[in-house]
Amino acid sequence: MSCIVIGSGLAGLSVSYFLKKCGYEVKIISSSKKPGASNIFVGILYRYPGRWGKKSKFADEAFLMSRELIDEVEVKTKRKVIISTGVIKRFSKRLKRFSDVKMDGDDAYIDDAVTIDMFQYIEGLKDLIGRDCFIDREIDSLEDMKGIKVVAAGYGMKKLLPINKLIYRKGQQYMGQKKVAVSKYGTMVGKGHVSFLGGDKICLGSTYEREFESDVLDKEYAEAEIRSRIEPWYESLEDVKNKEFVCGVRVGQNDSYLPLVGKINEDTYVFTGLGSRGLLYHAYYGKILSDLIRS
Ligand SMILES: Cc1cc2nc3c(=O)[nH]c(=O)nc-3n(C[C@H](O)[C@H](O)[C@H](O)COP(=O)(O)OP(=O)(O)OC[C@H]3O[C@@H](n4cnc5c(N)ncnc54)[C@H](O)[C@@H]3O)c2cc1C
Repeated sequence: MSCIVIGSGLAGLSVSYFLKKCGYEVKIISSSKKPGASNIFVGILYRYPGRWGKKSKFADEAFLMSRELIDEVEVKTKRKVIISTGVIKRFSKRLKRFSDVKMDGDDAYIDDAVTIDMFQYIEGLKDLIGRDCFIDREIDSLEDMKGIKVVAAGYGMKKLLPINKLIYRKGQQYMGQKKVAVSKYGTMVGKGHVSFLGGDKICLGSTYEREFESDVLDKEYAEAEIRSRIEPWYESLEDVKNKEFVCGVRVGQNDSYLPLVGKINEDTYVFTGLGSRGLLYHAYYGKILSDLIRS
């Protein structure tokens, strides 16, 4: 059996990995000119993402499946995917009811959260799947595409399969150097996040743009917005130097924080809407979708 997957972000790669593992011939078509939301510097994997820090549905199973896949990438490809372990979620009193969360005042400490080097993870997944499975091309329409296909095009869904309930939010990150940028904990999360990458390397980011004009990088806006969100709870960012910026548009559903996964017609499946939980849910739902396609 064979399958075409459109998109090589977390969604497309995860379903491709599980299909390939079951003996499917998989072709993944994606455009390097539009790398997508998975093309960020760092991402955090934990059970309590999102503004309200609620424990996500299926979070325990999903977390374990993501960890298994990340560990497999690290072992088989020798890439260093996990940058650090542990997250401090600031001002998160609500989390005190969970036994795996330690509180210090209003701050929640989550020991098994991990900060991921997204470049290494995405490239490692491509190594695992097999480089010969990838085609670098932009698809303009699904009309002439024959055979079973999964549309996992992130922001590109807008053009390929306009689905009313999808909402789009842009986020930007910057990586820089700071004189003192070390912390016992890997990442601090408030309105925005600060990740420590060893030595003087620091990554600052946020997914904040509710309305945006374009999906391209806007350095001035990114810096001003990220600073205004992080500075109230993290020490001065004045001395952050040598910045590199990256941006991506994440896709969510307007009525659920769970992804949109399923069959939409005879031979077309969809996998999108991972929102800010891409790392938590990609493996869990990638496996569910691959089982559905095989059934
Ligand atoms: C700044 C920022 C910070 C984030 N932080 C976190 C975090 O800490 N933890 C977390 O879990 N999540 C985080 N997220 C969200 C996470 O990145 C997304 O949930 C996830 O990357 C979405 O993956 P995806 O595969 O659905 O889409 P994408 O990664 O956007 O992939 C879409 C793919 O489709 C391809 N494509 C699109 N259109 C076409 C076309 N017409 N033809 C061919 N190919 C096409 C693109 O090339 C790309 O490969 C963050 C997002 C941003 C922007």
